[in-house]
Amino acid sequence: MRSNGASFYRELLASPPVLAVLSGPSGCGKTTVADAYVKKKSARCSVSATTRPPRAGERHGVDYFFMSDAEFDACIRNGELAEWATMYGRHRYGTLNRTIQDAQKVGGDLLLVIDPQGGAQIRAKYPLAALILLVPPSMKALKRRLMRRGTDSEEEREARVQEALNEIQAANFYDYVIENRDGKIDEAVKALEAVMEAERRKMAARQAAFAAAASQ
Ligand code: 5GP
Repeated sequence: MRSNGASFYRELLASPPVLAVLSGPSGCGKTTVADAYVKKKSARCSVSATTRPPRAGERHGVDYFFMSDAEFDACIRNGELAEWATMYGRHRYGTLNRTIQDAQKVGGDLLLVIDPQGGAQIRAKYPLAALILLVPPSMKALKRRLMRRGTDSEEEREARVQEALNEIQAANFYDYVIENRDGKIDEAVKALEAVMEAERRKMAARQAAFAAAASQ
């Protein structure tokens, strides 16, 4: 071990970056909670690639890397994606390997705001990643939120409500669940902070064990 006493453990707790997946049905506030967390802590959210066209105000490289189908196909062919999935039977979304690799180089926590199909692929590739499911207080509340957002057509909204049920069911292998109550974003962010801190301590325990083994 490099040093003794309290400073050794402080070093351990300061160092390990956490890779976490945040999933949850569309309209449950994933992006809001993730953005609030990232602002508060020195963490980052990944920018995904997608074949979905940009919505008003969305920017390439900030909200998503917007791609044509041919470009997305090339990313798959070249093994550039850590995970990808087709959502609502229409558009494809994926996390670029380089996004995770860059974050690991720089340090700091990385949050992947992706669906459970992607979560399963991340779990397989990065077994130490934490999988977190954000849920609305009820399906009624979720429908209300989707109506309020007003960015989607009626048909898209119906598909999203059905997808929400499927998404919650599909996340049965996740590690944590956080409820996002109406008007209580702070509560959800605090719960996310607690999860990330718990994961950091888990990683630190592993590092402590490795360091102890290496020093023998
Ligand atoms: P939206 O079209 O509303 O921006 O995103 C729709 C859904 O796509 C989100 O609920 C999110 O879970 C999922 N998503 C966004 N980026 C990714 C990604 O990189 N990979 C996967 N698997 N899903 C994603």
